[in-house]
Amino acid sequence: MRATIIHGAGDIRVENVPDPQLREPTDALVRVVQACICGSDLWPYRSMPRSEAGERIGHEFLGIVEDLGPEVSGFRKGDLVVAPFVWADNTCDFCSEGLQTSCRHGGLWASDGIDGGQGEAVRVPQAQGTLVRLPVAEDSALLPSLLSLSDVFPTGYHCAHTAGVNPRTTVTVIGDGAVGLSAVLAAKRLGAERIILMGHHKGRTDLGVEFGATDVIAERGEEGVEKVRDLTGGDGTHAVLECVGLLPAIEAAFAVVRDGGVVSRVGAPQYPAVPMDFSVFMGNVTLTGGVAPARAYIEELLPDILEGRIEPGKVFDRSVDLDDVADGYRAMAAREALKVIVRP
Ligand SMILES: [Zn+2]
Repeated sequence: MRATIIHGAGDIRVENVPDPQLREPTDALVRVVQACICGSDLWPYRSMPRSEAGERIGHEFLGIVEDLGPEVSGFRKGDLVVAPFVWADNTCDFCSEGLQTSCRHGGLWASDGIDGGQGEAVRVPQAQGTLVRLPVAEDSALLPSLLSLSDVFPTGYHCAHTAGVNPRTTVTVIGDGAVGLSAVLAAKRLGAERIILMGHHKGRTDLGVEFGATDVIAERGEEGVEKVRDLTGGDGTHAVLECVGLLPAIEAAFAVVRDGGVVSRVGAPQYPAVPMDFSVFMGNVTLTGGVAPARAYIEELLPDILEGRIEPGKVFDRSVDLDDVADGYRAMAAREALKVIVRP
């Protein structure tokens, strides 16, 4: 089959790889219908050292069950399913606590011999716990929103959820990438009435407003911080959702959080230390967030998508065939595209 291989920074290729086969009785084989490119895929795209052999890539996909191991129940061949970006048994103690990213029998896609999502098919380990059946047809218009359940929307949701967003909290979202916009949509769904979005790409913040942002702040740095403070009587907001992953963003987060408030960060931080200085201590600010256990949120979010109450798939603004996946990476890295669907 054909799959995406990254050979180093800027070097994405589609190559022939061995067809996936059932290896464990808990496996399933899924033919990929739609995959997508993640902001975190852009980190190796920008910085990976050259590799002759290359590495598989991609951790967001939905597709059709083609085969099932004997210990996988609850699915049939032909089912449309979505996979979260970490596979897990969904039964161990961590999974039972809603922390499937720490599953004792789980792991990551596209590493240690596990297929990546950006290919024609995937062997899914721990399939019964990992996969969620989607009650729509393969050609449903809902597919992009359902695909967003694999990572980007639950990641935004995790950010808002761990920050304790509710109808009484004011919220600042830092970042107008696909995760930031998903965090806006999540905060709205959790009832927040004041959602301030910090971002300077007009087309993206327009979608943020559609998703529920009440204020948009395009200014960056100190100027942006001042604007949030102006809008909140000098106090800042109860929740700050940091969805960029760079040091200036987490610095801004602590500068706009209200005393007693919560900073939540998602999206693979690219800094080693968090600047929680004496003023943060004096403000009783909590830091939370982390990698999103997407699997924990899928069943909760699915009905809203199926019944049309939310459309998180609007973050996808481009679609490419698998053969053109390199162009999808290029477009996302150049910020021509917000988030790209890949169709094998
Ligand atoms: Zn588990």
